[in-house]
Amino acid sequence: MSKDSLMKKLEEKIKKCQKCGLSQLRTHAVPGSGSYDAKIMFIGEAPGYWEDQRGLPFVGKAGKILDELLEGIGLRRDDVYITNIVKCRPPGNRDPTDEEIKACSPYLDKQIDIIQPKIIVPLGRHSMTYILKKFGFEPQPISKIHGKVFEARTLFGKILIVPIYHPAVALYRPALKEELQADFRILREILNTKG
Ligand code: URA
Ligand code: SF4
Repeated sequence: MSKDSLMKKLEEKIKKCQKCGLSQLRTHAVPGSGSYDAKIMFIGEAPGYWEDQRGLPFVGKAGKILDELLEGIGLRRDDVYITNIVKCRPPGNRDPTDEEIKACSPYLDKQIDIIQPKIIVPLGRHSMTYILKKFGFEPQPISKIHGKVFEARTLFGKILIVPIYHPAVALYRPALKEELQADFRILREILNTKG
């Protein structure tokens, strides 16, 4: 089956999913958006209010910042793939629970297997913890490892993991915006050297 049909099928499954309690509270599940051939995959935490309303990832305030950061390194949303660890909105935007992450993360695992990105960018602490553990690395404080490059081996080749602060931090800690921009420049450099 082509990437396109595999992803479409998975998205349909996510939209109907009832594997955890968040299914009862959602307006829309948010499978993800962007190119199925993307070299870079961004992984946030969970949908918020606007994402739940629209069924699309990062379309609220944090999304505006993500758009700016992408634009700053010459990328559009269509050039990348954007998703979250948990596909339905936790009430009041609370953190997803371990159970919800456990129920939902097989969808993310499948998305990674289908897209086979060269670079995975976990946005924020929860996503960083999940992705580093998944690929056999020890999670560390995001303040210490943001912008660092971890090299993982997979069945389909090498993946670089570059954890970055969640774009929403720029809303309440404006000083971190420059760190976000600096980390995005690292992504640009990797893309420049590895095509
Ligand atoms: N924050 C996230 O982690 N994901 C979204 O999709 C939106 C905001
Ligand atoms: Fe299913 Fe994930 Fe939504 Fe829970 S959060 S209902 S596991 S898609």
